Amino acid sequence: MRILVVEDEAKVAEDIARALSSSGYVPEISDEGEDAWFRGETEDYSAVILDLGLPKLDGISILKRWRSAGVATPVLILTARGSWSERVEGIDAGADDYLSKPFQIEELLARLRAVLRRTAGHAASVIEVREVLFDSRKMQISVNGAPIALSPLEYRAVAYLIHHRGRVVPQHELAEHIYGGDCDRDNNTLEVLIGRLRKKIGVSLIETRRGYGYLVSDEGGNEAPSA
Ligand code: CA
Repeated sequence: MRILVVEDEAKVAEDIARALSSSGYVPEISDEGEDAWFRGETEDYSAVILDLGLPKLDGISILKRWRSAGVATPVLILTARGSWSERVEGIDAGADDYLSKPFQIEELLARLRAVLRRTAGHAASVIEVREVLFDSRKMQISVNGAPIALSPLEYRAVAYLIHHRGRVVPQHELAEHIYGGDCDRDNNTLEVLIGRLRKKIGVSLIETRRGYGYLVSDEGGNEAPSA
């Protein structure tokens, strides 16, 4: 999942990006408002972490512009410590959650997971699709109760597909959320990755829709539940 990190303090931005990478996300940093606004409106991100105090264009203005342009990407805002008015303004402008600075990176990750879950309509951090159990908090996939060792790329792919289960995910969209936006990969690379993934987690979970993309279906095929 691609996450846009909008933060002009380089150290904070890098700390967030590092934590996101090691949690299986694909972070991209923007350090000023105009650039952030443009990228948020033209690129496809799973979520945005938005600092409110920014050069060129402040966070609240960016958020208002996105929302009035119909950009529905979940946004978690970073506010100055103790500034309740910033939080109120941010939420009114369309933020999905907030975090006051300074914050613990674990809390940021937990709030991000919650925001991603809510916007995808899941209530719990553990998702079960047939014999596969996906735990976003532990970054773990298990099949029939046995944990499966996945490479970072494999984890990103299966996490994105399970997160968007029930919908056919186009190849270019999946590639962007695995490799990042500025990377042009051909579909072969992706097919090889999906092939490896199927060997590890079973062939039935990820369906290929030729010419469209990949689908993890919610229904569990036509298997009847055991009595
Ligand atoms: Ca700032």
